Amino acid sequence: MISRWYWRRRLLGWAALFWLRRVILRQPLPLIGGLVLNESCNLNCRHCRVNRCTSADLSFAEALTGLRVLFRRGARALAITGGEPLIWGTAGAGVAELIREARAMGFLAVSVYTNGTLPFDHLDADAIFISLDGREPCHDALRGPGVFRKVAARIAEAVHPNLFINQAINAGNVAEVEPMCRWVAAQPNLRGIFFYFHTPYYGIDELFLPLSRRRELIGELLRLKRQNLPVVNSASCLKLVAADRWKRPADLCLVYADRKLFRCCRAVGNALACDNCGYLGYPELQCILQLRPDAVAAAFGYLAGGGKR
Ligand code: SF4
Repeated sequence: MISRWYWRRRLLGWAALFWLRRVILRQPLPLIGGLVLNESCNLNCRHCRVNRCTSADLSFAEALTGLRVLFRRGARALAITGGEPLIWGTAGAGVAELIREARAMGFLAVSVYTNGTLPFDHLDADAIFISLDGREPCHDALRGPGVFRKVAARIAEAVHPNLFINQAINAGNVAEVEPMCRWVAAQPNLRGIFFYFHTPYYGIDELFLPLSRRRELIGELLRLKRQNLPVVNSASCLKLVAADRWKRPADLCLVYADRKLFRCCRAVGNALACDNCGYLGYPELQCILQLRPDAVAAAFGYLAGGGKR
């Protein structure tokens, strides 16, 4: 078992070296590698069409290939996603085993993104991000009857020390921003909530929020942060998004999906999606690279603040 102290020192050492190589030596290293294991899902959410895709899940061997590709390109922080990654794999060759392989390979920080309906507590991930798009009526209207209660029950039973909520704000849940912050603050097993905006991957739809509305919501998020509610997004990033000055597609993330490597995300080349991108993780990475103190502290806080090591 590696001590947390030793692991944090390694993470800090890697981050410092990364910054030198990327900023001073101008090497095109990614800050994060994303691994998309599948496009299948056990839910059928209103805003998502991933489970209508026809790509075959990666096999375990193909997922290992993905890890090697990302590692060779310089990624040391890994984000495991889907589809729903926790329906992926077979007994003895699923996400838990893949995380073990990633650590053995040398990845220093591993996050998992899940809809929270299946057991996640056993995973040796440094952080687990669980999607909740509002309180029960709103979440269930977007994701299906009974889903909120199932997820909330798993969170209530969890012992994993580094659990976060992801909420993608859309026209159907704008009223849920403050209530969700307060709900998360009241859950002893949650450390915070990270907000995104709905991205029009499939064209402008009824859930889309234009920049003018996003700016108002960013004002609300900044106000909630000042009230010490557990909004994980940094103020620097939120202001960058409000100013619409973040570079996209971003070159700080590589994604291995469907046996191919993508820069930024699989929608790269979709100008409408990029212009209106609501994936706030990437402007956060740009703020980290610019050494904005609040963005660096937020990232280190959620990657190194908990974890099972
Ligand atoms: S929609 Fe465009 S900018 Fe947003 S994550 Fe995907 S490729 Fe990057």
